Amino acid sequence: MTNIRKQFIHINQRIEQAFKLSGRPPDNNITLLAVSKRHPYDKIQSLYDLGQRHFGESYLQEALQKIELLSHLDIVWHFIGPIQSNKTREIARHFQWVHSVDRIKIAQRLNSQRPSELPPLNICLQVNISQEIQKSGFSNIAIHNAIKGILPLPNLIIRGLMAIPEQVPDSSEQFMLQRTAFQQLRLLMQQLNQEYGLNMDTLSMGMSSDLEAAIAEGATIVRIGTALFGSREN
Ligand SMILES: *Cc1c(COP(=O)(O)O)cnc(C)c1O
Repeated sequence: MTNIRKQFIHINQRIEQAFKLSGRPPDNNITLLAVSKRHPYDKIQSLYDLGQRHFGESYLQEALQKIELLSHLDIVWHFIGPIQSNKTREIARHFQWVHSVDRIKIAQRLNSQRPSELPPLNICLQVNISQEIQKSGFSNIAIHNAIKGILPLPNLIIRGLMAIPEQVPDSSEQFMLQRTAFQQLRLLMQQLNQEYGLNMDTLSMGMSSDLEAAIAEGATIVRIGTALFGSREN
């Protein structure tokens, strides 16, 4: 069996196991987002042949090449990386999802640049859940203005929230500490849904090293790179 096949099976088992342990209702699905940044397009093809459909990319130029090369495949492309203003046009054209919306201005540009023949773009608002100084994302306070500013934009659908919590050191409390951060994101989405009468249904949280904790707290999309593809090329 090829490595990628083994890793694909293994990740799906980890997801299924975590889902069972979580006690979540059976119809409360989890999407595996295969983070293919810094991996060649033939690995995407291999995973596609195994049935994987959702792929995530962080670097626009690299992503556009892959999207072009693989345009005959029925792939759902997710942009998950930092977004500069001069990148929004291509992102709005070529992706179905954007997880890393962290400024109202970026959302406005994506909205006005989304081609009219395409359905509205699915977005997640990135939240700086661990309140790290160097990390992007809305604060728990700024997110309110973001919702109010972005909600009226007709070519975007706010599907939910995304976070990359602070790494917690290996220890006996690691799992609980990871859960605490993910729980904050879940509660924040609940609160925003109530306060603004929204139907956000997406919690994009959990990566190779913390997907179990994220699923325990209600992740609906887990973003997995290393555990699927191995370590990245630079
Ligand atoms: C790279 C990346 C991932 C995947 O991380 P792994 O630890 O390799 O699973 C997930 N989310 C974001 C936003 C990323 O940039």
